[in-house]
Amino acid sequence: MSGGPGHKPILGIDLGTTYSLVAVLRDGRPTVLPNALGEVLTPSAVSFTGAGEVLVGAAAKAQAVLDPTSGAVAFKRDMGTDRQRILSGRGFTPQELSALVLGSLKRDAEAALGMPIEEAVVTVPAYFGDLQRQATRDAGAIAGLKVERIINEPTAAALAYGLHERGRELRVAVLDLGGGTFDVTVLEIIEGVIEIQSSAGDARLGGEDFDTALARHVARAFREKQGVNLEEHAAAWSRLREACEGVKRRLSASERTRLVLPELPLETGRRLTLDLELSRDEAEQAWSSVLERVRGPIRQALKDASLQSKDIDEVLLVGGSTRMPCVAAMSAELFGRLPLRKLPPDEAVALGAAVQGAMKGGDRAVEDLIVTDVAPFTLGVATMAQAGRQHVTGVFSPILERGTVIPTSRVERYATSSDFQREIRLEVYQGEHARCEDNVKLGEYRFQGLPPAPASEQAVDVRFTYDLNGILEVEVTVVATGRKEAFVIEQRPGRLTPAQIEDARQRMAALKLHPRDALPNTTALARADALFVELTGAPREELAAAIAGLRLALEAQEPGRIAEVRERLNALVRAFRDR
Ligand code: AMP
Repeated sequence: MSGGPGHKPILGIDLGTTYSLVAVLRDGRPTVLPNALGEVLTPSAVSFTGAGEVLVGAAAKAQAVLDPTSGAVAFKRDMGTDRQRILSGRGFTPQELSALVLGSLKRDAEAALGMPIEEAVVTVPAYFGDLQRQATRDAGAIAGLKVERIINEPTAAALAYGLHERGRELRVAVLDLGGGTFDVTVLEIIEGVIEIQSSAGDARLGGEDFDTALARHVARAFREKQGVNLEEHAAAWSRLREACEGVKRRLSASERTRLVLPELPLETGRRLTLDLELSRDEAEQAWSSVLERVRGPIRQALKDASLQSKDIDEVLLVGGSTRMPCVAAMSAELFGRLPLRKLPPDEAVALGAAVQGAMKGGDRAVEDLIVTDVAPFTLGVATMAQAGRQHVTGVFSPILERGTVIPTSRVERYATSSDFQREIRLEVYQGEHARCEDNVKLGEYRFQGLPPAPASEQAVDVRFTYDLNGILEVEVTVVATGRKEAFVIEQRPGRLTPAQIEDARQRMAALKLHPRDALPNTTALARADALFVELTGAPREELAAAIAGLRLALEAQEPGRIAEVRERLNALVRAFRDR
């Protein structure tokens, strides 16, 4: 790190749907930092131990698999909504759950760097709208982190890549297919200037859809043989979906694999065993409709950049799901060239966020880099249109068009619709449809105290400012008086007030955290317990003995032996899982 001793780096955090990572620029190179287990991928999962302590990461994920009601996963999908998850009898908002993950990453970084950290750059899918970005920023505040910048995940990946390729002139397409979201970004790199030209995506498309499609396929085959629909049995279905994630990963490396799930619990109390062989071909057929959905945003991003696939010099694959051979093959077929994998696909986003953090922090190693981003959505207001003698309401009037380089600011003038109107209700929408009801409503602003005037003489200027975080600011000026009015912003679902953020921060800070140094043991046991239910026969007995061994060593408090017994257990779990 430059800046001399005592200079605190700004962290780069990839807050993912399935996994999160933290990175920092060290000696001019972005580097991912390990968690308490020495791993760089921390599952974005939260649960509570029997003793009421918060668990974040692999142990929480393993617990959530065994009992979906005990842990929360994939809550990034709920960002920007007010959906709560119940854990240990208490409700948690998506911001609070994300804050617990961010807090855990912050502590990991502090342990790795040996200093307290207060600032971070956090990435979001380019397709995240205003509400989701605000929620992400609020999550940072709840975790006690100042979010210096929110950047788009593909922009971050491009930045990590641009750092490598700053000497070249290139047109690049970044395909970022993660656990729950898909983003496509087209950009140009010219002498260290990275210009994003377009971005498109699908906020509800990712690796999990492949898991579900495969689980459905398996459930169908099972129903034909056994007459039971596993989709109707929550606990069995959760285990099947989780197992299908493993099957999917194995099919990235080999052509065939076997899926064995003993003792699947049905709601009736009965237990059934599932045992079948799956080939990659068969799985790819089950995935064909998901794969078809992946093509849509690619076409859209190229169209928005006014380019054809042959104009792209390099295709950069990021996100764990791009490891799937069918995804890479589809990209190769679409672009007529093999994709690049110069950066580890799961790390590229965090590495780029660290580069952005260093740029914000004024690190000299990255002072020649510049990055410009574009607005992922069109933003506008609801207006009324005249059709003959009829008024049509709910017509979308765009103010900032999708693809505009940000930061940006634009003003539109609107006339009032009736004489002596004293109040304006401004409804703000995000989206690409002509009718407001088909777009996402961001908020409603009431503007009071207009001077009395006939409709034809009364107008307001509405200014939209899109900042570098992709967050919108709205300002209204009465044309006749030049007065800028402060608005009352109506509460939106999922949006927190400063008082609520402070309240949530205090509540999260009051939770008891599972001690960091106990995590390796807790995680080893949780992973082994989750695997135990999948095994039968001799392997199950062998695992049971290893679990008991670690429990005994823990009770006897023999530090030297604990580490040894734990590593043996971990090795056994890995061996059985990868069989
Ligand atoms: P990310 O959000 O980028 O960490 O991506 C996580 C997603 O990538 C999850 O849905 C994983 O199942 C998926 N994934 C990771 N590794 C592989 C692999 N080797 N083959 C297929 N999918 C993978």
